[in-house]
Amino acid sequence: MIRKTKILGTMGPACSDPKVLDKMMEAGLDVVRLNFSHGSAQDHIDRAELVRQLARARGRAIGVLADLQGPKIRVGKFKDGKITLSKGDKFILDANCKEGTQERVGLDYKDLPKDVARGATLLLDDGRIEMWVERVEGDEIHCTVVQGGVLSNNKGINRKGGGLSAAALTEKDIEDLKTAVELKADYIAISFPKNAADVRQARELVKAAGGKSLIVAKIERAEAIENLDEILDEADAIMVARGDLGVEVGDAAVPALQKRMIRMARDKNKLAITATQMMESMITSPIPTRAEVSDVANAVLDGTDAVMLSAETAAGQYPVEAVSAMHRVCLEAEKEAAPSIGEARLNRSFLRADESIAMSAAYTSLHMNIKAIAALTQSGSTCLWMSRHSTHVPIYALTPEVETRRKVTLFRGVYPINFKIGKDSDREDLLEAAEEELRRRGAVREGDLIILTIGEPIGMSGGTNTLKIVKVGARKK
Ligand code: PGA
Ligand code: MN
Repeated sequence: MIRKTKILGTMGPACSDPKVLDKMMEAGLDVVRLNFSHGSAQDHIDRAELVRQLARARGRAIGVLADLQGPKIRVGKFKDGKITLSKGDKFILDANCKEGTQERVGLDYKDLPKDVARGATLLLDDGRIEMWVERVEGDEIHCTVVQGGVLSNNKGINRKGGGLSAAALTEKDIEDLKTAVELKADYIAISFPKNAADVRQARELVKAAGGKSLIVAKIERAEAIENLDEILDEADAIMVARGDLGVEVGDAAVPALQKRMIRMARDKNKLAITATQMMESMITSPIPTRAEVSDVANAVLDGTDAVMLSAETAAGQYPVEAVSAMHRVCLEAEKEAAPSIGEARLNRSFLRADESIAMSAAYTSLHMNIKAIAALTQSGSTCLWMSRHSTHVPIYALTPEVETRRKVTLFRGVYPINFKIGKDSDREDLLEAAEEELRRRGAVREGDLIILTIGEPIGMSGGTNTLKIVKVGARKK
């Protein structure tokens, strides 16, 4: 059996050794996440190069996702590195403070005092510390500690309920986005977008830099939930960014939101990534907890395209084991996932022939004993549409385009194959070669029924207009 759900792992010190990264690929890593919250531009360029070098050696495509830091609001540094706050303490968040003390600390986002007022709740360090805003005086936010704890340098601040006005792309993000385009990131994730305009801005910047990266909107603000519909229309993918989202909307709201987000993404022909704390205990333990196993399995049942590892692979002690654990949990959960045609599609009209062909292929694969779908494709969009349905049949993306092969590494149930499609090739010759390629790889055997899709004119993007059902080996007789 082949795993359908894709595994995304974050690069960091724990896997910068090429041997470790190679083992992660062997264990099933599909896409690598470069976290632009840490490291220099050159670090990311070098890492992307290493990933592609190892992938080439394995004869595989591995995707690269560049994750921009975004306007994560942080406290400044403390004189002694950290302080301990107790319930009832008075504390000041002061935009002008240079060095933090027991009384006050600085802010990297100078406009925060303008964005809050008496009565607001601020959550620090992913919600570990809670403060109530008593009053704002110029650049100072005077708070009372509601939930105490240790507060150390550069910890994040979220406002409960959202409503902070910081732009989604900071100056640093705009620079980093250029680096991401330069290293040919297959996906660029933007952090804390509020609405479709934020996503559009990123897309325009990618285009202006001459890139083709697809855009992932990380859903981690309360406003992004309200604007999910328009964000999905504008983005190529969303990330269920449970870390910051849980702080803004409350942890208990996240599981139901995850289901809603994944369902909406699939209905709109978009991709979904489920992220944060999926195998958290594996940072220090070689095996996951039962709760983590259930969490990964449930994301698979929700229909996510990919499950993501953050600190587990970037800074944990067991990066390879974390990938292996995800691999086996996904495989097992997928046995339980019921095949189905997305209901929202049954009453929809299609405007494009290629989308219609993709729908027909998915439908047929569920109603005939089909062993594989082979889509001869340039852009990969036929495979995206096919994969928005839950079919048990593997979808092979046969394409000469290396960028398309890397892009589909994130699509649930889609597998890239390097396949030559000459512009003046004969259609029947190509279909026969595709059939032979699947057989050579052991994906199908003589006598199996397969679906082939292709477009005309041959080799043109967006031209898929033909579906063929073939018995493997039949035409030789
Ligand atoms: P981060 O985003 O890891 O970049 O913060 C993911 C999340 O908030 O869940
Ligand atoms: Mn986040």
